[in-house]
Amino acid sequence: MKKKHLAERICIACRAVRPKRELVRLVRTTSGEVMVDETGKRNGRGAYLCRNRACWEHALKHGMIGRTLRKPLTPEEKAALTAYAATLPWFDPRGDQQKEEV
Ligand SMILES: [Zn+2]
Repeated sequence: MKKKHLAERICIACRAVRPKRELVRLVRTTSGEVMVDETGKRNGRGAYLCRNRACWEHALKHGMIGRTLRKPLTPEEKAALTAYAATLPWFDPRGDQQKEEV
């Protein structure tokens, strides 16, 4: 049983469960575009990633965003998400466990 009623979501890259506001929401809008949803309120299928560039790089490299949103990313969408990821800090989500080649 949980004490708090914070909405929690799972990062699709590192599978960490975090309060929703600590994650960045990606959305496939009703018109089929994939974008970063800063407000977290857009309609459409959503996916969450940590505010950690490592998670974004991992998700982009392995096509996890398109798979979760059930729509392959266009090159433009992928470029936009890569640019967004570049603004985030990088840290190793798995501590001293095996590291991802970047
Ligand atoms: Zn993560």
